[in-house]
Amino acid sequence: MKTLVAATHNPNKIKEFLSLLPDGIEVIPASQFNVPEPDETELTLEGNSNLKAEFVFSHTCLPSVADDTGLEVEALNGEPGVFSARYAGEPANNQNNIAKLLSTLADKPNRKARFRTIITYKTEAKTHQFEGIVNGEIALIPAGTNGFGYDSVFIPEDSSKTFAEMDLTEKNQFSHRARAMKKFLEFIKANP
Ligand code: IMP
Repeated sequence: MKTLVAATHNPNKIKEFLSLLPDGIEVIPASQFNVPEPDETELTLEGNSNLKAEFVFSHTCLPSVADDTGLEVEALNGEPGVFSARYAGEPANNQNNIAKLLSTLADKPNRKARFRTIITYKTEAKTHQFEGIVNGEIALIPAGTNGFGYDSVFIPEDSSKTFAEMDLTEKNQFSHRARAMKKFLEFIKANP
């Protein structure tokens, strides 16, 4: 059994990670090692993902995996991007973030957006990163109750439903996180 520590305190992300894991790999949340959450002080997804993996590795000395995700909206020049969690200010609040996003886009015909995830895998030997992207668009109004974050306003390409209207199995067929995880899992299969 290979053990990885997940540098996230978000139960929804843990649930998604666990749903994608093959037999033989277990993921333990960093909270179980009493690792606190670091401040996300970097200005890129790559930087924050790396910061989180390094932080957990420095506390646990175990192979660590971190994910940093941003919603990049074309008409907003890629914003909120790395600031997606705090788009409507601190403390982070999903409902306020969605309200701000919908009002900012209200007069913009271009609603194209993408989710981008960077997974960082940190071991004693090396650090590797894996990117996952899903293109789509921002819905006019929220729909669905599953998922988390911006799921209720994101409609992936080739779907008519928001992520929040999908169950996890369906979201995993499209999602940025599942795509980054696929690359990561292929890597650890080839580099056990
Ligand atoms: P972070 O990666 O936890 O910093 O997430 C940044 C922001 O994007 C937060 O507001 C999350 O709730 C949101 N987010 C991250 N992943 C997803 C997702 O899969 N669906 C919808 N929102 C997400």
